[in-house]
Amino acid sequence: MDITKYKPFLFDTIHTVFRADSPTGYIAEVDKAVCGILDQLGYPVEHTEKGGIMVTVDGQDNSRSLALLAHVDTLGAMVRSITDDGELKFTVVGSPSIPTLDGEYCRIRTRDGKTYTGTFLSASPAIHVFPDAGTRPRDEENMIVRIDEEVHSKEDVQKLGICPGDYLFFEPRTTITDSGFLKSRFIDDKGSASCLLTILKILKEEGLKPRYRTRFFFSVYEECGHGASYLPDDVREVIAVDMGCIGLDLSCTEYDVSICAKDSGGPYDYGMTSELVRLAKENGLNYAVDIYPRYHSDVYAALCGGGNVKGALFGPGVHASHGMERTHYKGLENTIRLGLLYMGCDK
Ligand SMILES: [Zn+2]
Repeated sequence: MDITKYKPFLFDTIHTVFRADSPTGYIAEVDKAVCGILDQLGYPVEHTEKGGIMVTVDGQDNSRSLALLAHVDTLGAMVRSITDDGELKFTVVGSPSIPTLDGEYCRIRTRDGKTYTGTFLSASPAIHVFPDAGTRPRDEENMIVRIDEEVHSKEDVQKLGICPGDYLFFEPRTTITDSGFLKSRFIDDKGSASCLLTILKILKEEGLKPRYRTRFFFSVYEECGHGASYLPDDVREVIAVDMGCIGLDLSCTEYDVSICAKDSGGPYDYGMTSELVRLAKENGLNYAVDIYPRYHSDVYAALCGGGNVKGALFGPGVHASHGMERTHYKGLENTIRLGLLYMGCDK
């Protein structure tokens, strides 16, 4: 199947989904964005109690279900405390590459709904003043958030309504280049979520029915480890569609769909992984098979949650993950194609 005609839908979806702030635990905006797209496509939506979004597509055989998972929660930060100088100390949500936050713009959201802007900076921010401006560690202890308001003291900040526990949203800076690159924060895993939404579009438009009932699950709380810990009882096979790692001796590039054989949670199901490799190979996809040295996925969450399931993982190769990420349209297209092939829908 030629799926290039769905490229505009994929890119529109990326812009809509990436724009919604969604650090783990703050999900209302991305829920609205994803449910809006699903509603336009005509799919009824169910929610799990903690906010996961599920769409069920009947298969030719409904005696068992495949679940395709992508997480829509992302990285972020939270106010930890307010300094006497009126700056913010922060704690990260998830595990962003903290040095990449130096100079990053952010929004501060108070619990009563006010939004302020600010910038993550080194606590030695001026090269003309601080001898350690270039060498001070970029970490939670040595960085602050400068608020774009006239504040000189802790009391001034408190008067704005800013408190410990308020969320800090990083600018995603989503850009799609003419050369086909998607560069943005949070391609992990909104890139894959956009691929799953595009698969749902293709199923509708092409009138395709998967081999088995397929549950598309957009999980939340993945970045802190328990995203897909609950799945319905009929689910037997689980595939995390999540970013592929790039770097060191790994073989994946931004143009590939990466199939993960093993990560920090151990090896994935041998039969499912072998089937993914066979489908990718026989259908001429750009693909790589890798092990991910420092990585857990929602399959691990599903297994630790007690699911009677087996699992695999594939997704687009993402460069500089948890930092200033980048992938290519080819990596996203190969991911969509592998998903359709595994569902038996690439006619
Ligand atoms: Zn991820």
